[in-house]
Amino acid sequence: MSETHLATEEKQSAYRDYAAPQRADGFDTVREFYRLNHMNQTYDFVRAKKAEFLQFNRRTMTPWDALDYLNTLVDDSDPDIALPQIDHLIQTGEAMRANGEPEWMVLTGFIHDLGKVLCLFGEPQWAVVGDTFPTGCAYSNKVVWSEFFALNPDIKRPELQTKYGMYEHGCGLDAVQMSWGHDEYLYHMMKPYLPLEGLYMIRYHSFYAWHRENEYQHLCNAQDDAMKPWVQRFNPYDLYSKNPNRPSLAEVKPYYEDLLAKYLPGELRF
Ligand code: FE
Ligand code: FE
Repeated sequence: MSETHLATEEKQSAYRDYAAPQRADGFDTVREFYRLNHMNQTYDFVRAKKAEFLQFNRRTMTPWDALDYLNTLVDDSDPDIALPQIDHLIQTGEAMRANGEPEWMVLTGFIHDLGKVLCLFGEPQWAVVGDTFPTGCAYSNKVVWSEFFALNPDIKRPELQTKYGMYEHGCGLDAVQMSWGHDEYLYHMMKPYLPLEGLYMIRYHSFYAWHRENEYQHLCNAQDDAMKPWVQRFNPYDLYSKNPNRPSLAEVKPYYEDLLAKYLPGELRF
């Protein structure tokens, strides 16, 4: 495998180390990011953002227009990489391709962070990126920097702070108001085009408290349980394909052009 693919096992423990981030500007940038994210992502905020953005009435772009925009964005929540997002998407897709993953999954890897174009509409990073978590019920202390939830106004709403909060046992994650960001946004955009496994990868790839820490199982239904291994299968490609060597877009573009054309319409509504 070349340097564009996955990190070796002994190197994997260096990723997602929030106390000692790999990127030079990491600690303060990422900590400040999560302070703002946990303070502002309330149950009401999430529902308002869904009402605002899931109408997809802002503009029409080709998938490549959106990718071009991502070329200018560096994610403040990411302790591992400070490369433009397009490089991350190519690294993710190429690592899957090298491992012989199914075609729909390579496409899913290639587009999984496309929802970060929300930044293009002036949204702050704390409303676009970072680990996601359920709102409307008690917070798990396995969520990264969970101490910042003390700053969230929902902490003073007792009805939102019980184990189940607004939800019922086994209600299914689809019924849960996840913190708002690129995952939920792109999931709704891609619903008509990808298999359920790919849709789960997109919607829950930042929900580490669930797919890594096995928290919030009491909210899951049988479909969530069946799909979880796919989200977990996706994760190493998202995480451990990150490396500072910039891949060549020109080299891989013809392959991804064909793949996008096979599954997605020429233009998407954002
Ligand atoms: Fe992401
Ligand atoms: Fe990603």
